[in-house]
Amino acid sequence: MGSRVAIEKQFRLVRTGLFVVWALISAVVVAWSVRSAQHQALSDVMQKAGETLSVQTEVLSGVLDKYRLLPPLLSRQSSIRALFIRDADGNAQALDARRTAVEIAAMSAAMDVAFFFANGELLANARGSGVASAEDVPALIEVARQGRLGRAALSYGEGQRTYAFSSGVRRDGRFVGAVVVYVDFYRVEAAWALSARRIFVTDKSGTVFLANDPAWRQRPLSDLRQTGRIDRYLIDGGFEERLDLVRRLPLLEWDLHVLADPAPVSAARFNAAAIATLACLLAGLVALVALRRNEVVIIRARADRATALRLERVVRDRTRALSVTNRSLSHEVDVRRAAEERLRKTQNELVQTAKLAALGQMSTALSHEYNQPLAAIRSYADNALRFLDRGLTSEVAGNLTRINGLVERMAELSRTLLSFSRKPGATIGPVPLGTIIDEALLLARPRARAAGIEEIAVAPEVAGLHVMGGRIRLGQVFVNLVNNAIDALSGRPGGRIEIEARRAGDRVLVTVADNGPGITPDQVSQVFDPFFTTKGVGEGIGIGLSIADNIIRDFGGAITAGNRPEGGACFTIDLAAAAAVDPVSTPPMAPAGGDQAR
Ligand code: ADP
Repeated sequence: MGSRVAIEKQFRLVRTGLFVVWALISAVVVAWSVRSAQHQALSDVMQKAGETLSVQTEVLSGVLDKYRLLPPLLSRQSSIRALFIRDADGNAQALDARRTAVEIAAMSAAMDVAFFFANGELLANARGSGVASAEDVPALIEVARQGRLGRAALSYGEGQRTYAFSSGVRRDGRFVGAVVVYVDFYRVEAAWALSARRIFVTDKSGTVFLANDPAWRQRPLSDLRQTGRIDRYLIDGGFEERLDLVRRLPLLEWDLHVLADPAPVSAARFNAAAIATLACLLAGLVALVALRRNEVVIIRARADRATALRLERVVRDRTRALSVTNRSLSHEVDVRRAAEERLRKTQNELVQTAKLAALGQMSTALSHEYNQPLAAIRSYADNALRFLDRGLTSEVAGNLTRINGLVERMAELSRTLLSFSRKPGATIGPVPLGTIIDEALLLARPRARAAGIEEIAVAPEVAGLHVMGGRIRLGQVFVNLVNNAIDALSGRPGGRIEIEARRAGDRVLVTVADNGPGITPDQVSQVFDPFFTTKGVGEGIGIGLSIADNIIRDFGGAITAGNRPEGGACFTIDLAAAAAVDPVSTPPMAPAGGDQAR
């Protein structure tokens, strides 16, 4: 969170910096745009004004040239000259002269045409009244008298301005009068009035003589400048360009002025300023958006990185915790393994103890089993000695053969006992079920006989079956079961023990049943508990079935207890079936090698 605030602050700084840069650049761009637009517009305006000036100079010069030539031409005509002759009574031909003047004025479109006598007296003029002010006329006549072209700018009648040209009329070399033509500027001014620009003419005294704005007429130029009527056409903002374009008309010593219209310049300045500002704003906006997007990308990237780092840390912590757990687990596994090892040892010891207990149970019967043949051997040997004395060698041989058989029987029993009492191994493999049961019965039968059991029947199918197990341990299970059955049947007439086996798929089910009292229903679930016994002190310790259960479990099998419907207990052992093993390599409870699987 702290880093996010720092980033925001950093971005704010960058934004402020960029804004300042943008503002500066924008100011420069706007100023430059305005300046260049003004320059362009100004040169356009000046060019147009210059064109107007040239055209109007030509127009004005053309008009004046036309009327300049008219008085000299008229004064040379005889009909005009004739008008200056007075009749005998000294009367002038005013009527004829008037008519002529009107005709000429109409044809030339002059404002007025006048004829003056040499003394300044008006002979006639076209308009009949309002002849130009008297003070100008003598000057015009005087110049004409001198043979030159008279000229003067005058006011005519009610504020009308005109330019007059005069030429002298001579009869027989004598100056008799002058023809004066007044130029009409009405059309010129009317044409100027159509222009948006101010167009005006100043005479040599600096007074406005002609103008397309009537208010400007006959006012001194300095007066107009003072009132700002011309000065306001100066462009402000450091551009001292005068929009007052002037051309001199040399003949008349007039100045023709054209004032350029500054409106397009202002408009161009405004437009340039507006466009440049908008462009700068747009560029700023685009830059702002790009900046924002960039900031978002950076913030997201940093957030992602922070998340990744956090995750990495969590993973590292978890891994560390896991490896600690792992270590403690493996330690626990070691402890368990050691405990298991101890347990196995204890169990083996217990098995051994149970075995010794079983041996103890059987010892009386077994000793009887040895004593009987021993007694027989003694009597056979005694008799053999007697037969030897009498020289009955064939009888001796017969007795020796019997002794041999008895010794063989005792040796087998002793081998089996030795093997049974040996500590079992831990291997599991295919073992012959029939052989193991035979060996168990070899040990148990003497006790059964002593207990008055009528028969121990082993079903013939048992002989051909093989199961997965350990030879000595499985033998012990059968010894235990048969011993228990003997206990149950002891003292009961017609006692019978039946051992059967059948193959069910890949399993082999072996049953050891008797026709004793059976197990009471409430004890069925307890018979496999360690130290559970119903026998009296010194008769049972209650570990036989518990050990049998453990052994069968070790073989991957199961042992269950129950009662036969016809009475008597029935124990069922469920073991994995195995393929047959080579009988030659399967000695009965090998004297050495522990609990061989086969
Ligand atoms: P022990 O033989 O020392 O009593 P076992 O674990 O071998 O210990 O047997 C436990 C108990 O199971 C016996 O005390 C007996 O009550 C009962 N039992 C075992 N086999 C039989 C049987 N064939 N018939 C009746 N009861 C039996």
